[in-house]
Amino acid sequence: MTVVTNTHTDHFLTVAWTAKDGWLAPRISPYANLSLSPTTNVLQYASSCFEGMKLYRGYDGKLRLFRPLENCRRLLDSATRVSLPAFQPEELCTLIKKLCQIEGSRWLPKDTSRGSCLYIRPTIIGTDADLGYHVPQEALLYVVITYWPSATAATPLKLLANTQQWVRAWPGGTGAAKAAANYGPGLPAHAEAKRRGFDQILWLFGPDGIVTEAGSTNIFIVWKAPAGKVELVTPSLDGGLILPGITRRSVLELARERFSRQSAWVLDGKTVETQELTVIEREITISEILNAAKEDRLMGLFAVGTAFFVNPVSQIDTVDHSINIDPNAVPHAALLRQWLSDIMYGAEESGWTQIIDEKEG
Ligand SMILES: *Cc1c(COP(=O)(O)O)cnc(C)c1O
Repeated sequence: MTVVTNTHTDHFLTVAWTAKDGWLAPRISPYANLSLSPTTNVLQYASSCFEGMKLYRGYDGKLRLFRPLENCRRLLDSATRVSLPAFQPEELCTLIKKLCQIEGSRWLPKDTSRGSCLYIRPTIIGTDADLGYHVPQEALLYVVITYWPSATAATPLKLLANTQQWVRAWPGGTGAAKAAANYGPGLPAHAEAKRRGFDQILWLFGPDGIVTEAGSTNIFIVWKAPAGKVELVTPSLDGGLILPGITRRSVLELARERFSRQSAWVLDGKTVETQELTVIEREITISEILNAAKEDRLMGLFAVGTAFFVNPVSQIDTVDHSINIDPNAVPHAALLRQWLSDIMYGAEESGWTQIIDEKEG
């Protein structure tokens, strides 16, 4: 998957903060580079956190954000975790909508192809120029928007499970925050995965190989429990090892509502059936997945997140095993993808989306 994310829109939002005066007036101004001293807190001590969300041009021509307040709340949690100042989530949400109002019409014109979106990246950094190791006394919140190519069909992912040489998150660490400091140290493992022909690292934790997440996505498994019941399982948030994804949460909510009894659905013009299943959040180990595969109980596995949406996984390699999964054996990932995209692009009305007002003309 190659994604062009270096094309930004014309404007960005900035709000400066000082310990003395608090948040100053927000500004939307022409996109520009930042000027920072080489000793700036963020550059030396990674006092930085961010969010990732999308602006969708709906099938009905309207611009929508998907659960934007959840992103603004999570940014507050992340900022708190790395000692950056708190920005009120409701207020941030209002500012992001203003920026989308300005950039949306120009960068996602109404005659744009179906299924287009822009990627929004709110960020907070510690801008204090004092080299001393301390909580930043100055900070900057900014929001940039980048171009995102039209949604393409889901491409099955190949995952490489990490060895204990590389760990993404640990108890008491920052794994549950979208803190910049989580991502740089993951690059060697990511590069190794790419070099060996995989798409992402499947991050395992500890001697038991606790499954956490894949790259920057949360994962879900459809399997038959040893007793024969079909389950949709995902690693629980307890322990703070994984990022509480908004897509993850939305998938859980949709799955609990729609997969709880046997049903028939229309998918790409065909009727598909789903059996009754139980949705479970709990600790999962890689050996449970291996055993399920060996005993022919593993039905499907998929990764979810804002950036790459809902993608089936076709292969997981560990140090001594390779697990192959038929990405089309069960329709759950494809159905969830369809349902979420119907909501995001306005084909299904939902309280999860917020419409951005645009000036006519
Ligand atoms: C952003 C992110 C996710 C996905 O979160 P969404 O809110 O669904 O986009 C999952 N894992 C990590 C590590 C992330 O950074």
